[in-house]
Amino acid sequence: MAKVLIVEDSNFFSTVLKRGIEMKLGFEAVCATSYAETEALLTNLDDDIYVAFLDLNLGDAPNGEVVDLVVATGLPVIVFTSDVDQGRRDEFFQKGVVDYVLKDTPSSVDYLLSLACRLYRNRGTKAMIVDDSKTARKHVSRLLERYQFDVIEAEHGPEAIAQLSANPDTKLLVVDYEMPGMDGFELIRRVRADHPRDTLVIIGISGTGSGLLSAKLIKYGANDFISKPFIEEEFLTRITQNLDMLDHLEQTREAADIDFLTGVYNRRFLYNSGAKMVANAKRTDVNVVVAVIDIDFFKSVNDRFGHDVGDQVLRSVGALLQNRFREGDVVARMGGEEFCVIAVNMEPEVAFRMFESLRESVAEIAVALAHTEVKVTTSIGVSKNTRGDLAEMVKHADGLLYEAKQAGRDRVVAE
Ligand code: GH3
Ligand code: MG
Ligand code: MG
Ligand code: MG
Repeated sequence: MAKVLIVEDSNFFSTVLKRGIEMKLGFEAVCATSYAETEALLTNLDDDIYVAFLDLNLGDAPNGEVVDLVVATGLPVIVFTSDVDQGRRDEFFQKGVVDYVLKDTPSSVDYLLSLACRLYRNRGTKAMIVDDSKTARKHVSRLLERYQFDVIEAEHGPEAIAQLSANPDTKLLVVDYEMPGMDGFELIRRVRADHPRDTLVIIGISGTGSGLLSAKLIKYGANDFISKPFIEEEFLTRITQNLDMLDHLEQTREAADIDFLTGVYNRRFLYNSGAKMVANAKRTDVNVVVAVIDIDFFKSVNDRFGHDVGDQVLRSVGALLQNRFREGDVVARMGGEEFCVIAVNMEPEVAFRMFESLRESVAEIAVALAHTEVKVTTSIGVSKNTRGDLAEMVKHADGLLYEAKQAGRDRVVAE
């Protein structure tokens, strides 16, 4: 489990922070109260610790000495203090701390927690800096590394485009506007053609003091801009805010496609993305099989054991289906106790056997209760129809499912 190191001699603040880390982030907090204790901790550093929160004012180290100690280990460091001295602030940024937080503001704990969360997410996230000036590039690159990104550097537009197609999972692109050959505008315009705003954050860096330039960067597709020269705190907050937004959109998008109860895809996804998959497969002569799976006498499960147990059965069936099919297939809950599977590249000859074995596996699921266990059977209609779109295949499979029910349930009818 991810762990956060807290070095703080005030019991009150460290308790509040520790509770936040455990309750809100679900991480573990490792606490030290002095320089000496921290030093001892670092001699045998726990690999799970990924960030350190340091108090600048400790009994045995009143002037932030603990910062050097921890920065030297390579851990990202966030310092907190009660004073506002600008000189000290600069000094600590120069030492390589990620951020500097005032602990006497009521929101400082929330801010620290969001930062801890951001740094955790940045790990393994790819970020690219495109700048023709080596000095500027290295500067940004160092900051991005400090924020825990996997950093990619590009010297000019074409290199950035090549790097982006080699690393399509890049989440953040920092682009200098003034570059020879392809300038920042042109690069952003081209990148945006196949990387929309809600999948890739682009931050434009504009030259000194031109508001017009900044506005233009955004019009060309940047999510945000930052003017040179910038201070590190501003850079960090812009990046954080934009990536948080991206994560948020991603979660919303995911939630919109996923059935809340079972975690498999929902009907909306089935008829949007699933329909496209079927159309694609047919166009390229790939076999597709569509099955509709309905739990038998499910109403009586609810009636006998209660709705919660019914829900548990639905979750178990959903999980089994999910495990059973390949990543390129679609498993969706159509509604109630009815699921649909789109199996791509499944030979029609094997379809019956596949679903027959699925039926047997579902029948083996046993939801354990205090004094009994709940088992269910399923009826399955399988359409191997090579013509028709998803809607037609579902309709066909539904008809076959009805036949399976009529014939006594607990069986597969494939055609
Ligand atoms: P059949 O074998 O003919 O399919 O009978 P059945 O009882 O399974 O079919 P019916 O359509 O009569 O009843 C489906 C039941 O599924 C009724 C409904 O209360 C229950 N159901 C639908 N959605 C949920 C859900 O989200 N959770 C639970 N626990 N039950 C649900
Ligand atoms: Mg203190
Ligand atoms: Mg049913
Ligand atoms: Mg039904």
